[in-house]
Amino acid sequence: MGVYTTEAIVVGYRDFREADRILTLFSPERGKIHAVARGVRQPRSPLMAGTQLFSYSKFLLVEGKNLDSVSQCELKESFFKIREDLDRMAYGAYFAELLRISTRECEKSEEVFRFFLKTLFLLEVWEDLKIMARTFELKLMALQGFKPQIFCCVNCGGKGLEKVWFSSILGGTLCEKCKSKDNKAIKISKEALSVMRQILKKRFEELIELKLSEDIKNELKEAILDFVLHQLERKPRTLCFLEEISML
Ligand SMILES: [Zn+2]
Repeated sequence: MGVYTTEAIVVGYRDFREADRILTLFSPERGKIHAVARGVRQPRSPLMAGTQLFSYSKFLLVEGKNLDSVSQCELKESFFKIREDLDRMAYGAYFAELLRISTRECEKSEEVFRFFLKTLFLLEVWEDLKIMARTFELKLMALQGFKPQIFCCVNCGGKGLEKVWFSSILGGTLCEKCKSKDNKAIKISKEALSVMRQILKKRFEELIELKLSEDIKNELKEAILDFVLHQLERKPRTLCFLEEISML
């Protein structure tokens, strides 16, 4: 059985047996990997620091029949500022779940890896976490191949979007003439549309200064979340938690 090294981010885990943990890692070369960290819940385990949620580490892994196992790991970045803040932690767990749900196993994804690493650095400092969440959702969907068509009408290609509806089913904006193509399409304001376009056009870090009214934030939440849930075909568990603590 082979041995390999990879850098990876811990994007999920569950406790296993008495002292083990099954980690979900996300690596640039192999995408999502499940690996067991044996004895990691014992005091003074050398694997402990590098295998916490969001840890970015260099791993030495041994390929197994069903499951790889962590032989060694060296912490590169712990992102402890996320873990020590309940709100940031809740959002981070949500971002990680969206990543897990939207990726397949063993699929090389350098770009998604870099994007998620950047997300964690930004999550330590971003002030308005609601805006960050909408940005993350839309950018992740675009990276995973579900970029919505919001620069013209998705049905007729018309650019004159005076009044605009957003259709998750059709994957983009509809003009007034075409809005009947999806009777579940959500009406959105020009301001909200302009923010969605900025999210797709600008780099993640450029959006950190974005300030929006509560109304626009609510509009974006309705449209973007509807789109994300439509693409994923299920509701992430961590999203329910964000709703419970009224942080969404
Ligand atoms: Zn149209």
